[in-house]
Amino acid sequence: MSTDNSYSWRKDFHLELVTCLCTDFAGITRGRAFPEKLLQSKLKSGVGWVPVNQTITAFDDIPACPYWGAHGDLRLVPDPDTATRIDLDMGAPPLHFYLCNILDLNGLPWNLCTRTFLRNAFSRFTEKTGCLVIAAFEHEFVFLNSVSSAKAGFSYQAGRYGEPFATFFVTALEQAGLEPETYLPEFGENQFEFTCKPAFAPKAADNAVITREIARDVARQLGQTISFSPRTSIKGVGNGVHIHISLLDTDGRNVLYDESSENGLSETGGYFAAGIIKHLPALLAFTAPSVISYHRLVPHQWSAAYTCFGDKNREASLRICPVERFSGNPVAAQYHFEYRAADASANPYLALAVILLAGLEGIERKLPAPPMVSTDPSELSDSEKERLDIKRLPVSLVEALEVMKNTNPVNSWFSQEFMESYLAVKYSEIERVKDDDEAALCDRYRNIF
Ligand code: GLU
Ligand code: MG
Repeated sequence: MSTDNSYSWRKDFHLELVTCLCTDFAGITRGRAFPEKLLQSKLKSGVGWVPVNQTITAFDDIPACPYWGAHGDLRLVPDPDTATRIDLDMGAPPLHFYLCNILDLNGLPWNLCTRTFLRNAFSRFTEKTGCLVIAAFEHEFVFLNSVSSAKAGFSYQAGRYGEPFATFFVTALEQAGLEPETYLPEFGENQFEFTCKPAFAPKAADNAVITREIARDVARQLGQTISFSPRTSIKGVGNGVHIHISLLDTDGRNVLYDESSENGLSETGGYFAAGIIKHLPALLAFTAPSVISYHRLVPHQWSAAYTCFGDKNREASLRICPVERFSGNPVAAQYHFEYRAADASANPYLALAVILLAGLEGIERKLPAPPMVSTDPSELSDSEKERLDIKRLPVSLVEALEVMKNTNPVNSWFSQEFMESYLAVKYSEIERVKDDDEAALCDRYRNIF
């Protein structure tokens, strides 16, 4: 085993730290640790937390915001269902953490807790539609220290150069109960991708947080550094986070699917897609929420540059994923959508919540299904784009925030306190990098995400 670490931690210390974690508006997971012997009491009372922490930017600035400052106290209270403990026996202390809800000192959910925001969005979705949501976050990342002199995308060689990280990482995902499904060398240099089994909605976002932290930690234990940043270099392709979604009714039937329709799309599936596509420019404020995000969302990158719904189309921002019809695995069990306009600078709870709320809007208003596009939208003529109602997505975070602020009902999903705090974070990040060219942005963000 090639572990290049200098740890001197030993199991016979009989001390283990457990960390309470939450994910903030900047998409950073932060928290506090305590000795494991205090676990039972901490599961009840949590650990202290500070309101202003939620508004620390990706660059560790604290933006001016009327609501938060030196005052106030909160609790990070662990959700026992998120207990994660990984011990790869590589000489490092085990990774042991809980994801938390942020509560006030009376035990009530705090208005800016993004985990609570998703739970509320999901409850509303279920109440109005009777549907449960299944989702999975597919992640791409790159090794910052070159692992491979073999550059061939998807090649077995590139995959083997990615060892032993790959096997340690997938082992860790198994230990965490996340049911890893695929791990592959991607098209970009030193770029890899992984997926885990889908989970019901609130948990799916937890799994996104957990998988990223596990990946970072396993890399660290091996003396390597990885980055999920949407773009780590001006050359090559970006790192996406594709959010896979399907809807089930109370009998477990896939509501997006109708075998009698073309492309398998049900009527409800069409409404759901229409809500997402209609509000996509505004959703970017939460799913592609960094200045660097817009250096990935450009045509011909297999990311997402237009409001476009496609069947098996990797330039579409929302696509129907392929299904196979030969193994006996029911098509209805495979059929789902993939939202491609997201990246790892997004808070996964907010990203999934706004997609669901936009889809709900489509279902409630019975918006007509968007046209299905099977070509690269950037290659369509202007008149074709107009006929198909395909629009270029915002080309900057400033534009996406502006669209979001002016899009009803998206701007009504948040309390004033929530919205102003979120905008304060994002405008502070924009200000901080305003003089960066693309290369400087890549340098800056790749060490953060
Ligand atoms: N790297 C592409 C992105 O930025 C995705 C490639 C693919 O998996 O289709 O989203
Ligand atoms: Mg990929």
